[in-house]
Amino acid sequence: MTETESRDSGEPGPSAGKVSRVMVLLVDDQAMVGEAVRRALLSQPGIDFHYCSDPAEALEVAEQVRATVILQDLVMPTIDGLTLVRRYRANPATAEIPIVVLSTKEDPAAKGDAFAAGANDYLVKLPSQVELIARIRYHSRAYLNQLERDEAYRALRVSQRQLVEKNIELQRMTHSDGLTGVCNRRHFDEYIQEEWSRSLRDQSALSVLMIDIDDFKQYNDTYGHLAGDEVLKKVASTLQLNVSRSTDLVARFGGEEFALIMRTTPREGAFAVARKLRLSVQDLGLVHGRSSVAGHLTVSVGGASVIPSRDGSFLDLIEAADKALYEAKRAGKNQEMMYKGGSGQ
Ligand code: GH3
Ligand code: MG
Ligand code: MG
Repeated sequence: MTETESRDSGEPGPSAGKVSRVMVLLVDDQAMVGEAVRRALLSQPGIDFHYCSDPAEALEVAEQVRATVILQDLVMPTIDGLTLVRRYRANPATAEIPIVVLSTKEDPAAKGDAFAAGANDYLVKLPSQVELIARIRYHSRAYLNQLERDEAYRALRVSQRQLVEKNIELQRMTHSDGLTGVCNRRHFDEYIQEEWSRSLRDQSALSVLMIDIDDFKQYNDTYGHLAGDEVLKKVASTLQLNVSRSTDLVARFGGEEFALIMRTTPREGAFAVARKLRLSVQDLGLVHGRSSVAGHLTVSVGGASVIPSRDGSFLDLIEAADKALYEAKRAGKNQEMMYKGGSGQ
């Protein structure tokens, strides 16, 4: 049999989300003891009392009423009190609830057994009202404080995780171009400087491609600026999809011009990628009725490759790729060309 009594019913009970009230659970087979404790706590503000006379139900009741302290009788007909103490301790939901053992004898060996089983305190039945209430309040406060700390810690962990996610998102946003989602010019500028330094250190080839849509002004004039924007998005995704290494960086260099940085990639490799990218755009089959080269949208690609030297600059590399792009345009557009002049490119 179990029963709960709650005073100050205006206040939220222990079931109202945040546990802040003291909830005493007495587990004792003797109704007389139950009655005595109930009376002792009757006039106490902020203390709810629940009595359980059946030890077989104790564990479940302790969870259900969210006990903040358990007063546990030692001698009961069906289950021994210490066995029950061990069960509370083994059960995650009750493992931390303070347990005050109520015993009939003041015996050091019995006390030792109780503490060894996991009890927090030991009282000889029936203690004075003052002592009983003091211990109930003390243990419950300690337990509630611990719950609050655990909750605060959990909340902290959650907000830390959210902060990390937000930072990643923020970084992604500051790195990417608003329209096309590929990297923006600012990130391109940072990245090429890093890659230049790395390639200089490793003495490996660094390649840059410049990819420019052919007759895009005509496209905008024919189909409108919004349609033009859609095309930019499609071209950007195709370029992104067709680069293979995680270190390859596709960026929107400006208006309708994209750029690709590839580390440890020599000239022939860069040329092959340039061709692949150009064909991937062609294969989109985006109709362009006023293209000067085909019935669909095409791009021209200029590339340059260099093993950096101390007296060189990444700006020269970009300029060389740009010159090659200009040559590709001059030679009739819809083609790829690598920079031929200068040293090492
Ligand atoms: P070419 O084949 O020589 O590259 O000629 P083009 O017309 O593509 O190049 P031009 O530099 O003359 O014109 C580029 C056009 O790209 C002009 C501009 O309207 C368009 N453009 C630039 N940025 C955007 C954009 O964000 N959205 C749209 N829709 N169009 C853009
Ligand atoms: Mg163009
Ligand atoms: Mg252009």
